[in-house]
Amino acid sequence: MTSDEGSEKKATAAESDAASESRSRAEKIELGVALLEHLEADEVDLPAAIDRIETITTSPALTREILDTADKRGVIDREDGRLRVRRGGSYVQFESQVVAREGEFTCRRCGAGLSTGHFIVFEAGELGPFGSDCIRKVVGRES
Ligand SMILES: [Zn+2]
Repeated sequence: MTSDEGSEKKATAAESDAASESRSRAEKIELGVALLEHLEADEVDLPAAIDRIETITTSPALTREILDTADKRGVIDREDGRLRVRRGGSYVQFESQVVAREGEFTCRRCGAGLSTGHFIVFEAGELGPFGSDCIRKVVGRES
């Protein structure tokens, strides 16, 4: 049952929170791997990585699956509770990969109310909204 997803492109900007909550498990995994892949640090400890993955899922099982998948694909190396990010040379580009939208949002990381939501746009989907401070933490620009 694989309908060609690529040819059916109906996504619009109207996809918002509701859509991101109903993401499938597979989509969350892709998003998680993309997030790890784009971390702006060569090495993070496990809690810091999990803190970021929690913006996608709070399920420990799914978190583990994201880490396993990233490991298997060679995106990260795990050693002694730390993650080394194997760099494909792709930090999140703020200019092209982060979009800001006006509206009433709740930061996915800290729960603060926002009038401007920042979203990271990955091939696998969008992650957000985040406040301006939290988005920097999520992409690893600040720890
Ligand atoms: Zn926040």
